[in-house]
Amino acid sequence: EFGLIADLVHAYAQERPRHPALIDEQRSLSYGELDQSMDRVAVALQRDRVGSGEAVAICAASCVDYGVVFLGALRAGVAVAPLSPSSTPESLVTMLADSASKILFLDESVAVALATVALPPGLQLVRLDRAPGVRSLDAWLAPAGGAPVPVAIAPDAPFNIIYSSGTTGTPKGIVQPHSMRWAHVRRARSFGYDREAVTICSTPLYSNTTLVSFFPAIAGGGSVVLMPKFEAGKFLELSQRHKVTHAMLVPVQYQRLMDRTDFDQFDLGSYRMKFCTSAPFAAALKSDILRRWPGGLIEYYGMTEGGGTCQLLAHEFPEKLHTVGKPVPGHDIRLIDEQGEEVAAGQIGEVVGRSPAMMKGYFNQPGKTAEAEWFDAAGNRFIRTGDVGRFDADGFLTLMDRRKDMIISGGFNIYPSDLEAVLFQHPAVRDGAVIGVPSKEWGETPVAFVVLRADALATADDIKQWTNERLGKTQRLSAVRLAAELPRSAIGKVLKRELRDQYSAA
Ligand code: ATP
Ligand code: MG
Repeated sequence: EFGLIADLVHAYAQERPRHPALIDEQRSLSYGELDQSMDRVAVALQRDRVGSGEAVAICAASCVDYGVVFLGALRAGVAVAPLSPSSTPESLVTMLADSASKILFLDESVAVALATVALPPGLQLVRLDRAPGVRSLDAWLAPAGGAPVPVAIAPDAPFNIIYSSGTTGTPKGIVQPHSMRWAHVRRARSFGYDREAVTICSTPLYSNTTLVSFFPAIAGGGSVVLMPKFEAGKFLELSQRHKVTHAMLVPVQYQRLMDRTDFDQFDLGSYRMKFCTSAPFAAALKSDILRRWPGGLIEYYGMTEGGGTCQLLAHEFPEKLHTVGKPVPGHDIRLIDEQGEEVAAGQIGEVVGRSPAMMKGYFNQPGKTAEAEWFDAAGNRFIRTGDVGRFDADGFLTLMDRRKDMIISGGFNIYPSDLEAVLFQHPAVRDGAVIGVPSKEWGETPVAFVVLRADALATADDIKQWTNERLGKTQRLSAVRLAAELPRSAIGKVLKRELRDQYSAA
């Protein structure tokens, strides 16, 4: 079974025109209004001759109009490239050219950032903010009342072009077809994204992390509360005010929420399901959430590329919180060694995955695509994750690290995640990360960056000594550096390549 999310919006608009669809700080748009606005976007795109299968880009903070443009483009069969507003202007230009976007929908802060660079020729700009003197969305939109020319959309037509997070290098364009987005929607149905659901999106809309909850919420006919910027107190206040039922948060956001001394004073009884993905999610944090926050907790492990997803229903498997769960039914996840051979049961290897919904390849990058593929003996195509992990006897996957972050010291493999797990047990440590740095003696050696709790008195040496007492001889830290914050991407991933740069610059 395959369906179009834009058609579902139309059906909900007939059924319950006044039910809120998109809500931000300024306004609330009902399903009836959303459906009409989507028509106006689709008609304007057809007027501007942006054809089905072509792309437009959106680069802005989350707001109601972001959702309107995204969904309206889908109705016209136009793919959307949602771009990160925190990218450098140069990398935005690269992504705009790479996706061959015809129009860029942007807000004021992105316009300011782009003022210094030359944009691809012919690119139209439409502003989502309502600043005076710029071409606004209202000015661009077709007048109300017209209907777009219906377009047939095939399951493998592009839905969106998402650029990977760029955690390990330059972002890669990933074309997700309609069928892939639909597979996410169908999979999420069993988690209660229904007509009465209220989903809060507090991560940016350009990220697949957000979109894997945004689209199921809309496809289910529920309401979506959009936060342009995460702030823990505001999140709790909005959750209570809108009686939120579903949220997708990244680990660092959960940590900020649970660290708040007033957390238990908020009424979060409306919550049915919470989700987490995108970065290592500590077992202690999961159990704290299960204890203090009503509703279930599900962790996803996967990639924007697709290929395979593991899912941990934390509320059902409290004894498996150190894992990322089991492969979703129909998803085939295996582990391979450096030679590309499958490892024996219980051994560590690189995770490769295959599922009914995966990218065809990186956009315009056949070389990178080939590097990311792995074929089993039967010739089935898998996607390499670059992550290293191990299955336990019950089929639950434990993730160690990204392959690029592994440390080889004196011939031994060191997994930074093992060292981080020990580090986090130190009462003074609020945040931390371990990287490998060059060493004359060992080839590489582990170094920790540590952020202390506000009231902590420990020194870098105290922490080094305490941690090393608890580590194996070959794992010991060479140094501990104190930092005010760790460098993180906009979606909250620790940027280890920046830590390595910081280390070598010092
Ligand atoms: P790039 O590929 O550009 O370096 P990225 O890999 O961070 O960026 P995404 O597709 O957003 O881009 O993220 C997928 C990666 O995020 C996975 O390969 C994995 O390393 C990490 N990840 C996702 N879910 C989890 C999880 N539950 N626990 C730990 N890590 C996770
Ligand atoms: Mg990746």
